[in-house]
Amino acid sequence: MFSLFSSRFRRPLVAWFRRHGRSLPWRETADPYAILVSEFMLQQTQVATVLPYYERWLARFPDFAALARADESAVLHAWQGLGYYARARNLHATARAVRENFHGVLPRDAATISTLPGVGRYTAGAIASFAFDQAEPIVDANIARLLSRLTNLHTAIDTAAGRDRLWQTATALLPRSGGRLHNSALMELGALVCLPRRPLCAQCPVRQFCAATNPAELPRKKTRRHIVRLDESHAFVLCRKRVLLEQSAARWRGMWILPRLETAPRAQPLLRLDFPFTHHRITLSVFAQPYSPNERQSWISLGVLDRLPLPSPHRRALAQLLPRQKLCSTFSGA
Ligand code: SF4
Repeated sequence: MFSLFSSRFRRPLVAWFRRHGRSLPWRETADPYAILVSEFMLQQTQVATVLPYYERWLARFPDFAALARADESAVLHAWQGLGYYARARNLHATARAVRENFHGVLPRDAATISTLPGVGRYTAGAIASFAFDQAEPIVDANIARLLSRLTNLHTAIDTAAGRDRLWQTATALLPRSGGRLHNSALMELGALVCLPRRPLCAQCPVRQFCAATNPAELPRKKTRRHIVRLDESHAFVLCRKRVLLEQSAARWRGMWILPRLETAPRAQPLLRLDFPFTHHRITLSVFAQPYSPNERQSWISLGVLDRLPLPSPHRRALAQLLPRQKLCSTFSGA
């Protein structure tokens, strides 16, 4: 029996990574700011989606100072389309905290990094290892799946006991130095070989260390939360090349959306579209509606719409509605 917790495990893992690991822009840099940006963007978002955003973001906000100086509207606009906007607000707050508390330089140790806004245990370990090459454990979804199979873990990984086991395993696997290479290799093996439904065990460089008896059944999780369906109604009011929009104070705080309607009118909507939001499935219905603007709403000139932060469903709704409307629809009080 080969021990998982020895250099005999790490050697083939790292050799495989050197040969098969993808070249990704955040792997080609040791700039702590760029790595931090990539880690925020990659939370709950796939690599292919993140790539163009990452390049644009670094061109627009190249360092902590530039991001700390930016106003929230510019930050949300640059994030637009990536979703989970709390990440953008936290990244912005982190840049300001680095400027104000650490003289503009990201601290090197995971414990201090974890005090920054929106930085949890995983992100702190990822930055400490990827930016500063420290031997810090990390457990993301790919590593969780890989470790649960390597150790044949049948405890649900979204319980405290399951999480503890994974972090203990990740810690025990660490080399004394070279955290960057080690963690990158674990992550990549989870992403490319130890796949969720059909792990490619025949191609796995560490299969002789793997204890999984039925890998496709792992990791175990508690029962999933049910998807909740929601219907939401909004108004579309257009006049003299301006559209009425509302600055959201709840979901998508600070972004611009079509004005909310408390109740759905007894009329056919101009448009209906579905989108997911966390564990909700939302049907957005948009009505042509006489409307009196309130204090959170503003008439926005069509010429500046592209420069405002709008969540994707509302931007999609406007993209479909604007070409088919006369330039004045029903409204009151403009
Ligand atoms: S042998 Fe299969 S299940 Fe085990 S770690 Fe490798 S890919 Fe995953």
